[in-house]
Amino acid sequence: MGVQVLKVLFIVLFLFQCKSKKETKEPITVNQEHPVTAQGEATIANLTNSPDSGSAEEPDPADTNTITSREQVPILCYHQIRDWRPRDSKRAKDYIVPVASFKAQMKMLADSGYHTILPDQLYAYLTSGAKLPEKPIMLTFDDTDLDQYTVAKPEMEKYGFKGVFFVMTVSLGRPRYMSKAQIKELSEAGHVIGSHTWDHQNVKKLKGNDWITQIDKPTKQLESITGKEVKYFAYPFGLWNEAAIPELKKRGMVAAFQLSFKRSPEEPLYTIRRIIASGYWSPRTLYTNIIRSF
Ligand SMILES: [Zn+2]
Repeated sequence: MGVQVLKVLFIVLFLFQCKSKKETKEPITVNQEHPVTAQGEATIANLTNSPDSGSAEEPDPADTNTITSREQVPILCYHQIRDWRPRDSKRAKDYIVPVASFKAQMKMLADSGYHTILPDQLYAYLTSGAKLPEKPIMLTFDDTDLDQYTVAKPEMEKYGFKGVFFVMTVSLGRPRYMSKAQIKELSEAGHVIGSHTWDHQNVKKLKGNDWITQIDKPTKQLESITGKEVKYFAYPFGLWNEAAIPELKKRGMVAAFQLSFKRSPEEPLYTIRRIIASGYWSPRTLYTNIIRSF
């Protein structure tokens, strides 16, 4: 009788312990100094823990369904980084990030534990499940603006960030745009140079020899500047159609970046999503939009 009571008591105690252990597991820590890091942490953290990533034993290249099912890596798209001028239109300010805002955005990313990745890493993750660093993010810069070199590059370097620069070759060396030497310097500093056509044409309208002018020649020129292969493309205006994709494939592009439209289920590698980091956004708004959009 006494033994029975003891047994029951023991079981009850044991169950209670298990329960209380569960409840006290994983205390929620909120970073007071950078409150933006508190929200949505789990979503991004999952990126590195998803069953698809990090498995070394995955020899076959993934099919499109597998690629589409992998958690998207947040990718930001920047254009000009300079202070607003009185003549800048309301709409243009989405594409013009004031210097202080850009600095605050980079600091927020670093403080929040983000690690920049480059297109080869993204490609390996998408096609073969290669492991990514914790809280991966990609920073991309379109249109060859000079301030990407003078402002963004040094600011990114403070945090060890690397970026991807999608160059339209027509503007190389023009006033307010980067020079060939600056492109080469970016490449040698470990940033990646991609193509953004010759003169910013909508690829939906290209036909015949346009592809040579807009893709083949710029690729060759960028390769001769950097001495490295150019394999990544960003669609001008973010616009693409199914017909453009085989043309890009034929011309050596292994992936292409759009803006925030829906990805093609058949061609996820050629419709990788990015969001424009708006000039209006505080670091907190940027953080929220990173979580929401990817
Ligand atoms: Zn552009």
